[in-house]
Amino acid sequence: MKEKTLEETKVFVERVAQHQGWRVNPDREFVQTLLEGLTTNFNRYGYFLCPCRDSGNSRERDKDVICPCLYSKEDIQEYGHCYCALFFSPAFYASGKEYGPIPERRPEHLIP
Ligand code: SF4
Repeated sequence: MKEKTLEETKVFVERVAQHQGWRVNPDREFVQTLLEGLTTNFNRYGYFLCPCRDSGNSRERDKDVICPCLYSKEDIQEYGHCYCALFFSPAFYASGKEYGPIPERRPEHLIP
């Protein structure tokens, strides 16, 4: 499998944001850490496992938390950003509000 570079992950994230009508968190330093996490996960597991969650060590067990995760739409709608705060809604982005921890929407029985 071809390894992803940080730059390729960045392009992926920008495409997801564009496709979904979201914005990328403007905190560059913070986003850099998430991009590094996503890149490491891709090169370790073969898919973009959420950088804020643990792997169940199979694509099948991780499928709900492959970025953009199954919970992102609802989280962005309800809290203005996803669990990792990588993606913002346009309204949250425009508000300039601080992002912070939000509850984990992933059902407990799926958490490894
Ligand atoms: S919480 Fe955000 S970064 Fe993590 S998988 Fe979901 S959309 Fe991607």
